[in-house]
Amino acid sequence: MARGKAGSTRAAPASAATATAADVETVAAAFPDAGAETLGMLQSSGALLDGHFLLSSGLHSPRYVQCAKLLELPVRAQRVGERLAALLRPLGVESIVSPALGGLIIGHEVASALGVPFRFTERKDSKMELRRGFALGYGERVAVVEDVVTTGKSTLEAAAVASGHGAEVVAVGAILDRSGGGHPFTVPFVSLLSLDVPTWAAVVCPLCAAGGKPEKPGSRA
Ligand code: ZN
Repeated sequence: MARGKAGSTRAAPASAATATAADVETVAAAFPDAGAETLGMLQSSGALLDGHFLLSSGLHSPRYVQCAKLLELPVRAQRVGERLAALLRPLGVESIVSPALGGLIIGHEVASALGVPFRFTERKDSKMELRRGFALGYGERVAVVEDVVTTGKSTLEAAAVASGHGAEVVAVGAILDRSGGGHPFTVPFVSLLSLDVPTWAAVVCPLCAAGGKPEKPGSRA
């Protein structure tokens, strides 16, 4: 399978009975304003923050997107979920799996829009697991849904958990793609908006070099 990006996805899901990645392109083309609408909602909800941030990936960045603010209003969360669901629907997704905590709300909204089950993975002693009695069927076509993809690490961990439970991960969906095209996914990856914001390893962070200290975005009251 080849690497793919929203709108330019070339990788076809293995044994796709109902759709190919080309269908994803078609759907994306049918919603050309999804990115603009998402950006507008991010701005109006106060989700775009400027400063010096320590991302969960360990990288530093001058900008952070607090998706929790975007999803604060259920009506807005529902709208975003419907948009993302429209991109995933052609892939014949049978259930959604999201890594806690970031993927919980959007994953649930996407599952709601698709009318499929929603499960989440969570860390126990730093290891990602499927708990709480959740089970996946053998060969079940799962999409892993996240709020933001930067390195894709937690998404990959959730996907590995789903695969380990016998499911077939056929797609990754996110509100926001901050990977700059460098995401590690080998299945179709769809997002509502690609946002190219610089990220740096701590040792080369110019904001640190200027004497600044990064803050964890979640710690901002
Ligand atoms: Zn820094």
